[in-house]
Amino acid sequence: MPKNSSLQDLLIDELKDLYSAETQLTKALPKMAKAASDENLRAGFETHLDQTREHITRLDRVMELLDASPKGKTCKAMKGLVAEGEERIDDDATDAVKDAALICAAQKVEHYEIAGYGSVRTFAELLGEEEVVSLLQETLDEEAETDRKLTELASSLNVKAEMSEASTAEDEKDDR
Ligand code: FE
Ligand code: FE
Repeated sequence: MPKNSSLQDLLIDELKDLYSAETQLTKALPKMAKAASDENLRAGFETHLDQTREHITRLDRVMELLDASPKGKTCKAMKGLVAEGEERIDDDATDAVKDAALICAAQKVEHYEIAGYGSVRTFAELLGEEEVVSLLQETLDEEAETDRKLTELASSLNVKAEMSEASTAEDEKDDR
């Protein structure tokens, strides 16, 4: 049978991709928390790390229900998103600008996950896998809530970043 010939095959393949993505995130989120200056942003990354571990547990359960292994795939997209996030961590930026950059990187990750979970949830719905649907929906809701919280943090932290930019420019003027 050709690869991913059925919707069931595609569902399992996309779930493996998400499993790899979540696993990569358990390694990236502690670094992002460490790089964050704002206390609420740091706490947000730490909370989402706990949730991410729970997402992996849910995917284990989902794969058990579907009688498949969660392993065997590397999510290349998450590899790229994490690599870009790490570049930001190494940026020589003010604390506030770095926080804004971390939020931007984290939101790209959440949107990727939201797209993935939304799709697999719908596939499972079509295949009549009710328990799988409810597990995936729980994770999808947490990803969406995380994205919403990041937007809220950005509304104050991006302003701080813009102001830190202005004060740096002022300092440079004073130096002359
Ligand atoms: Fe997740
Ligand atoms: Fe997430």
